[in-house]
Amino acid sequence: MESVQHMTTTPNAPPATVYLVGAGPGDPGLITLRGVECLAAADLVLYDYLVNPAILEHVPDSAELICLGHHSTGRALSPEEIVAKMLEAALGGRTVVRLKGGDPSIFGRGADETEPLREAGIPLEIVPGITAGLATAAYCEIPITHHDDASAVALITGRERQGKPVSRLDYEALANFPGTLIFYMGVRKVTRWSRSLIEQGKPPETPVAIVRWCTQSRQQFVRCTLDTVVEVVAEQELRPPAVFVVGKVVDRAPEHSWFAEQEN
Ligand code: SAH
Repeated sequence: MESVQHMTTTPNAPPATVYLVGAGPGDPGLITLRGVECLAAADLVLYDYLVNPAILEHVPDSAELICLGHHSTGRALSPEEIVAKMLEAALGGRTVVRLKGGDPSIFGRGADETEPLREAGIPLEIVPGITAGLATAAYCEIPITHHDDASAVALITGRERQGKPVSRLDYEALANFPGTLIFYMGVRKVTRWSRSLIEQGKPPETPVAIVRWCTQSRQQFVRCTLDTVVEVVAEQELRPPAVFVVGKVVDRAPEHSWFAEQEN
């Protein structure tokens, strides 16, 4: 395995590398070995609110840590400021880790940050992580590609970028999709996506699992159906982060997964 370069600041030194690292969905054991190597070599770490701070134990004491806050309550830094900070550090020879929840390439807007770095000639590496939706298969024992029920899985955003004039989501295609649907960022727009699926012919009794804080001790697993998901979210006051797993496979999940049993 190639080692992570650790550079010191010297005049006219080549820029240091920016590592875009997936932290996984929360359980600190779910980051990759490569991710840990990058953290151990970091001079600057910028991390999102979804990242479990326990993962920061791999960062040396000498490194600078910047928490970017919660996306819906306003970030500490704008996307442009984040890129500017990374650029400045890398050009100064400081190794940068941009730590993101789950996988940095899945609804992580990773490309928005890597494109300007690439244009500026900064060396990059992207380290994948375990994305929250797929972690539900293990931690809630939902067999998302069960051979009898689902030949495919779709990862879908429940919240499209504001200002998009027309939805890019084709609900007719999604309603007929031959497999499991997993919605990210689906809490606030639960009425829209669940009703749209029913309108396009998805059976209202289709099982749904709402999984909050997946893989963490505060993990919540709530079972309902496509036509009750709106009221369940409201009644139980379910807030992000949560993924919604939609499909027959949800019925195969046990009442208490191995993980839930361990936690209780
Ligand atoms: N890159 C991340 C997704 C970022 S978008 C990944 O690959 O997982 C943010 C959304 O991810 C949240 O709104 C929620 O839908 C989901 N999410 C992230 N972490 C989660 C967790 N631990 N439990 C449940 N959902 C989570």
